[in-house]
Amino acid sequence: MVDLISQYNAIKPEVDAAMQQVVNDAAFINGPEVKAFQAELESYLRVKHVIPCANGTDALQIAMMALDLQPGDEVITATFTYVATAEVIALLKLTPVLVDVDPNTFLIDPTAIEKAITPRTKAIVPVHLFGQCADMHRIMEIAKANNLFVIEDTAQAIGSKFYEPGHADGPWQKAGTIGDIGATSFFPSKNLGCFGDGGALFTNNDQLADRMRRIANHGQSKQYYHDDIGVNSRLDSLQAAVLRIKLRRLKDYNQSRRIAAAAYDAAFGGHPNLEIPQRTPWSSHVFHQYTLKVIGKDRNALRDFLASKDIPAMIYYPVALHMQTAYKDDRYSKGAFPVTEELVDQVISLPMHTELDHEQLEYIIKHVLEFLNQ
Ligand SMILES: *Cc1c(COP(=O)(O)O)cnc(C)c1O
Repeated sequence: MVDLISQYNAIKPEVDAAMQQVVNDAAFINGPEVKAFQAELESYLRVKHVIPCANGTDALQIAMMALDLQPGDEVITATFTYVATAEVIALLKLTPVLVDVDPNTFLIDPTAIEKAITPRTKAIVPVHLFGQCADMHRIMEIAKANNLFVIEDTAQAIGSKFYEPGHADGPWQKAGTIGDIGATSFFPSKNLGCFGDGGALFTNNDQLADRMRRIANHGQSKQYYHDDIGVNSRLDSLQAAVLRIKLRRLKDYNQSRRIAAAAYDAAFGGHPNLEIPQRTPWSSHVFHQYTLKVIGKDRNALRDFLASKDIPAMIYYPVALHMQTAYKDDRYSKGAFPVTEELVDQVISLPMHTELDHEQLEYIIKHVLEFLNQ
């Protein structure tokens, strides 16, 4: 699915030297690499504040802790997403309110968000799933009209540009910098991945930035003075050193993903049993995943066939959140979210990374078509 070894080999001398420097300096925590990475990511995203932390799940949790929400307050997110989004809501004793997604883009459905709002609703967490932005124009309108916070889950879409619908050449904002807070992950397989765990928060709001920086560091205002109940969530210097090098290449990395996606599109577009990923008119796609819908053929049989040819296709996600044992809830019976319940049986994600070459793409394409046309 991802080829992290080839990607490393292409930048090995630079990465090895940077990591050795951190070891030589023994500046493992809060060293200069972390501060430099923070500043470079702020400039790349054109956002006022980046707060590095230990992983993407912590980033989401710290964001929610910074908003002073009360137990029972409702937070709306998609039922078709990775579990972390709902997990932190539940951990903080807030109430996750799940909504359905758009059947073609897989992104959270703004109309469903509107319908789910109650007097207890305090925040919306749109997930920029698979690499393109949710409909932030409508989501920000809904948030403004109802006085709600917006936390963008940007774990799969770092670098994606958000713009006026149909105006890809016009002004843009980067994913994660549109709402009150953006939260991202540097898990190795993400578009900007480190060599372990890592994450970050983004915001243009000075107060929220201070608060989140404090919360990530035991709620500490100055050493041994604790103003908030916090957590211990840091990005370490070795990861920051790796991320600085990869951030300089992120644009090229995302371009490589787009080239691979174009090859898949050309091969699969118009096939009667496949729907290629639909692009939104308001966002660039950074293809964290290239996800097809399989129509009228057995998706699991396709995955097994590909596995037999050593092609590691994956199902993101096989079970909707409202069908997960931990998140079952009387509010949601089977059939509550028909789009997601259909998608979990249709979607398949093909290998997608920065090192896919022509030969590999041909091999994958050939076997997908072989299965469908047999
Ligand atoms: C990866 C991911 C996360 C969590 O990131 P971690 O660094 O693994 O904690 C959260 N949300 C989404 C949508 C993700 O893909």
